[in-house]
Amino acid sequence: MAAGSSHSDSRPGKPMVVRGFAIQIRPSEWEEMRTAGIVARVRMKVDFSSTHRRFVLCAEESGGATVNIGHYCGFLPLAGDPTFFARPVTLAMPNTVHADVSAASLVSVEMLRYGTTYTLNIFLHWLTASTGPDVLPVHRQKLLFSASRGVLSQPLWQDGKTAQVGALIPAFYRRTGDPLLIPSALHEVVGAITDAVCCVGCRKTHFLALKPVTLTEGLGVSRIHQLNPRATVPAVASAATLPTVQAGKNKKRRDRRKAKQMIARQTTDAVLPKATEAVAGALEAPRLQEVTP
Ligand SMILES: [Zn+2]
Repeated sequence: MAAGSSHSDSRPGKPMVVRGFAIQIRPSEWEEMRTAGIVARVRMKVDFSSTHRRFVLCAEESGGATVNIGHYCGFLPLAGDPTFFARPVTLAMPNTVHADVSAASLVSVEMLRYGTTYTLNIFLHWLTASTGPDVLPVHRQKLLFSASRGVLSQPLWQDGKTAQVGALIPAFYRRTGDPLLIPSALHEVVGAITDAVCCVGCRKTHFLALKPVTLTEGLGVSRIHQLNPRATVPAVASAATLPTVQAGKNKKRRDRRKAKQMIARQTTDAVLPKATEAVAGALEAPRLQEVTP
């Protein structure tokens, strides 16, 4: 499974929409979900965060179920990501949006249930470094787990079920009968989404209480994906978004330069005028502002 990338809309200033990670759903199932009002938004946008001075991924946890069919897509951050933001949405219609989430990297978890048959897709998404707020980064994704025709015979959508929440997950197999094992780092989230696709008339988030995902060797991504601490854009490049802060910095630099020039004039006046200019020029060099995860 190789890391993939998508760059569907590279125009700066407009959020880029990423959709290429959704489960393939048959027209008859789409029609049944449309009639039932189940809306799972399997997509994310790439947008610029002024707070973190970098591009982040923005998505909506959404979906729900009827007795017959369920479809849900949720998102989790990686452990230790300081850019993660989540906001529950409670005003929406049942079986639609339940939360807004955004972070520099996100794990998408999508499940489709028809009767007692389950399909599951889990991807890791991240962005390449960008040189400025007008230069869109490239979205990258890697499949962590994918399986179809999973079976779970217990009807979790019935009222009065005795099973503990998140305790049951479908069993997935290859055609040969070999079991497809879900990596242990993803067990909790698969339990949560199994409940979500059985949640008839779903009205609340199933993901916000879960632990962030920790990348382990078992997921096969710990080597290729590392949070990039230098992904923030240069402070000079985003001056337009933070005029007050940047103006203050410029004034401090000017004051520092004047003070140095005055000292230099007093000590080496007419001897090294070019050297002092060189020092002042060095102070003007743009510096990257970093966010340490
Ligand atoms: Zn629910």
